Amino acid sequence: MEQKSTSGLEFSVPSHASMVEQCPLCEFIFPTHENLVFHMMESHPTQCPIETTKEYEKLSITESDKLFIYHLKICSLLMLTFMGLAYVYAFVLVG
Ligand SMILES: [Zn+2]
Repeated sequence: MEQKSTSGLEFSVPSHASMVEQCPLCEFIFPTHENLVFHMMESHPTQCPIETTKEYEKLSITESDKLFIYHLKICSLLMLTFMGLAYVYAFVLVG
């Protein structure tokens, strides 16, 4: 629901139904179930049920794949930048 503050700025407060996941051990709130699983394994590793542990292993693989793709994109971007700069410098040195 959109509301206006006293200074005229619009803001929205999430309703309770939109808060999807809450940690049962420390009551932190997370927007997605994946975030809750990562939080539980990193903050309460000894108190996690076995299903959470298995889910964490699956999510970790997916997450590491995404991270690998991200690193590949960053490396490609750096290579393109360096090649572009070398190309420009070559024209400057010749001309
Ligand atoms: Zn917690």
